[in-house]
Amino acid sequence: MSEIDNTEDEKPLDFIREQIRTDLEVGKHHKIVTRFPPEPNGYLHIGHAKSICLNFGVANEFDGECHLRFDDTNPAKEDQEFIDAIQRDVKWLGCNWGENVYYASDNFDQLYDYAEHLVEAGKAYVDDLSAEEMREYRGTLTEPGKNSPYRDRNAAENLDLLRRMKDGQFDDGTHVLRAKIDMASGNINLRDPVLYRILRATHPRTGDSWKIYPTYDFAHGQTDAIEGVTHSLCTLEFEDHRPLYDWFIENLPVPARPQQYEFSRLNLTNTVLSKRRLTQLVQEQRVSGWDDPRMPTVSGLRRRGVPPEAIRDFVSRLAISKTEGLVEAAMLDHCIRDYLNEHAVRRMGVLRPLKLVIENYPEGESEVLVAVNHPGDETAGTRMVPFSRELYVERDDFMEDPPKKFFRLGPGREVRLRFAYFVTCTDVIKDASGDVIELRCTYDPETKGGNAPDGRKVRGTIHWVSAAHAIPAEINLYEPLFEEPEGGNSQDFLENVNPNSVEHLSGCMVEPSLVESTPDTAIQFERTGYFCRDKDSDENQLVFNRTVGLRDSWAKVKNRT
Ligand code: ATP
Ligand code: MG
Repeated sequence: MSEIDNTEDEKPLDFIREQIRTDLEVGKHHKIVTRFPPEPNGYLHIGHAKSICLNFGVANEFDGECHLRFDDTNPAKEDQEFIDAIQRDVKWLGCNWGENVYYASDNFDQLYDYAEHLVEAGKAYVDDLSAEEMREYRGTLTEPGKNSPYRDRNAAENLDLLRRMKDGQFDDGTHVLRAKIDMASGNINLRDPVLYRILRATHPRTGDSWKIYPTYDFAHGQTDAIEGVTHSLCTLEFEDHRPLYDWFIENLPVPARPQQYEFSRLNLTNTVLSKRRLTQLVQEQRVSGWDDPRMPTVSGLRRRGVPPEAIRDFVSRLAISKTEGLVEAAMLDHCIRDYLNEHAVRRMGVLRPLKLVIENYPEGESEVLVAVNHPGDETAGTRMVPFSRELYVERDDFMEDPPKKFFRLGPGREVRLRFAYFVTCTDVIKDASGDVIELRCTYDPETKGGNAPDGRKVRGTIHWVSAAHAIPAEINLYEPLFEEPEGGNSQDFLENVNPNSVEHLSGCMVEPSLVESTPDTAIQFERTGYFCRDKDSDENQLVFNRTVGLRDSWAKVKNRT
């Protein structure tokens, strides 16, 4: 059962949940069964997460079960790597299929028997038209198709040909098995759709035992029926396939009658959510792989430090409806920030270090100061942070000629060093080309912990690390992979890839406690953003990925609409 809790009880039920409730009330079903049916030809993305949380969510809410089903009918594109990644990602999202993991390929024998059943009933035939001819014969949205010259073969001849297709007696592409429905149908899906094609490809599970493979349309509904799925939830592009889905169920001796329902898929601004396009980004090495932190894949989001709870929160806010829309990526960021603000431990890390020397702090000495791990959560405890005469502060926290409202460091200005002391900048040291390379300061020993006994105030508080104790790190700052909101959806999406989607910083300095962080530790670098350690980084070279910045642009978006 899924661990997803649906806390928003007051939310009205969407049309799918309404349907399920009715079906249970009128006794059409006593237990509902849903399924999430990925094709293992790529990694899961955040759009899939919507489908996963819907399928596992309703199963959980209505005391049913949700199957994980691999729709593995096209071995030309499928791979064990994808099967493994999908299982890992679904689990990581918090969904649990228990014993119920299935493969469409487990039913290859049964599906083939169904095909023979249709042939014997005169409802399917073997066609010898080439792919191109078939396209011509199919007609268009405005013109009916025409019958193939092979359409009226008798059942015995069809059966013989089908068996020989199965036995591998024909070359790939020379014959297909088609349903005999209606070449003049207004719905192109009903114009004698292909049920089986010849394909010599090694299947990850059935190896080389099959020379013919069922199409998605033929496999999907029957597999639903075999598994006892009651509610087959899919995205709107399958709406026009539903009459075909129903035709198979009506014309085959299937053990159950599943019903298909369609909902709108998730589209996100500045993002591409088409598996074909994501595959292209990976294959053309526009990204480092499926789990590149800029990818909208579950693995990519994870590597960027997005917690599963934030993804679940995000998808639970999406409408389950019949209307396609484009959701602002800022809303996803908002959900991530919302969760991390509450759960990320606070640490200090300096992205672009500038040395700061405290002239009146004794040389060679150091002390440890207490720092709180989370300002809003006492139970998160405290840690010790080393402090000494030489520190690093953020280059951006100093201006030589600051405007009035700049409440950070400038010549003669006093600021608070977080958890430490007040310091005043007394001198600025530059290199030969005039760049500031060091700040000289004095500190007030009376202000330990960040407060002055005389009640004097400072407006600014900045973060820092002790130069002698800090650990060097590399930090990746990510921006959306597409600058334009529609960039990922445009025809020439590859040309819209943001060339500045990652900024790689080296020579960053972080506080020593971060050696212990793991890729699953959510960290807020104070005043900077949320980060996590990259999964490929080790103690010798710490690498952090920025999950999301601190500023919430969703509030702005929301106010605009
Ligand atoms: P493609 O991108 O090539 O269309 P796909 O994303 O549909 O492929 P599948 O593995 O077939 O890939 O998808 C598994 C399930 O996830 C399907 O039920 C599909 O409807 C659903 N799904 C896919 N993309 C989205 C999306 N953006 N939003 C919601 N559900 C989705
Ligand atoms: Mg699909």
